[in-house]
Amino acid sequence: MKAEIVAIGTELLLGEIDDTNATYISRELTTIGMDVYLRHTVDDDLGRIVQVLGAAMRRSDVVVICGGLGPTPDDLTREAIAQVTNRALQSVVGAEDQLRQFFAQRHRTVTENNLKQCQVPRGGRLLDNPVGTAPGILVEHEGCTLVAVPGPPPEMREMMSNHVMPFLRSKLEERGDVPLFTRSLRLADIGESEAANELADILDQATDPAVALYASPGEVRIRIATKAASEAEANKKLGQIEQIIRQRLVEHVYSVDEETMEVAIGQALRAAGATLAVAESCTGGLIASRITDVPGSSRYFLNGYVTYNNESKQRLLGVPAAILEQHGAVSKECAQTMAEGARKDSGAGYAVAVTGIAGPDGGTPEKPVGRAYIAVADERGTICEQFDWPGTRTQFKQRVSQMALNLVRKRVLGLA
Ligand code: ATP
Repeated sequence: MKAEIVAIGTELLLGEIDDTNATYISRELTTIGMDVYLRHTVDDDLGRIVQVLGAAMRRSDVVVICGGLGPTPDDLTREAIAQVTNRALQSVVGAEDQLRQFFAQRHRTVTENNLKQCQVPRGGRLLDNPVGTAPGILVEHEGCTLVAVPGPPPEMREMMSNHVMPFLRSKLEERGDVPLFTRSLRLADIGESEAANELADILDQATDPAVALYASPGEVRIRIATKAASEAEANKKLGQIEQIIRQRLVEHVYSVDEETMEVAIGQALRAAGATLAVAESCTGGLIASRITDVPGSSRYFLNGYVTYNNESKQRLLGVPAAILEQHGAVSKECAQTMAEGARKDSGAGYAVAVTGIAGPDGGTPEKPVGRAYIAVADERGTICEQFDWPGTRTQFKQRVSQMALNLVRKRVLGLA
């Protein structure tokens, strides 16, 4: 099945925001074996949107549009679909009540322009949006499926996975296409070339399932893919190769598909019945923030300490003044005593601590910018790893937090 993606929004063309939605949608569509041949970005202009949609519909079986479904006059996706399919816009029974309820729950009142979001071109249907106000639209017209999803990425993702992907999968099955099933194994603490080296024979020889490496910012992924008549058959084939890869890269494979490191850690801690505390210097609270992004994290996360200066490291975590004087705040000794202090104060089974030099200033020849020490303390003792990765402050904080979470994961699973 051929597909095109149309991203709508003047701000995309002005370069004010990155078109991350199109990347996500491309990946989702290709993951089930669809061929994405063209992607377009169009400004908020009805004529140009209609023109692009018309051409896309003539060429492709599926056109996914994102953005422009909101209530304001520059949100024109709904009108454009109505025009290009030559169908009148009609209100959908029940949608208005749902929208009023959404607003009432947030103590806000619906305005007249919000109600236009309850309209759909005749014969089409609205796709539920539990996390926002703009429902999606699905219309089948002259052999082409037109789908419109909202612009805000969380709303778009929710709608893609709950409505659009199941619909497209069933469409593929109806056509008798053998669908493609994929799994993406996420790796931490290993570069692309090292991973390629470890898997050289598999990457060379494996054709079904196919195995490929991808480097995305901050991590490497291994994508395994197979065509199969059923999900059960695909799971069997994918599961076998996944096991082989996991055995080779046991320290590095931390999760599958969209499951994040913080979710993986939560599972490991819960399975072990363990608790965690975090002592952060250079990450400024990012690790605690990531851990608490996971629903239910209160079951295992006890305490976060953001000890940015020396005095707070001493006062809150009991880091001895002698360690700070002799080794400095960015040192293995400091990281270890921070972790031990956090574990003692919180009563957690595991405590992780990070201290480092995010830059751009503060580096020395012995301790350059990008240096971090990451320590984990538990009942067996304290381990510490040195990490060097100069980059921007944001990249540094992200990478150190990832390394710290991975070290906890490895320690909990007995891999470190
Ligand atoms: P809303 O109901 O929120 O108005 P909408 O469907 O009208 O939804 P837009 O107004 O087009 O969406 O975009 C809303 C926001 O979503 C944008 O300001 C931007 O932050 C984000 N967004 C839109 N399109 C994209 C895209 N292609 N990639 C990433 N983010 C996007």
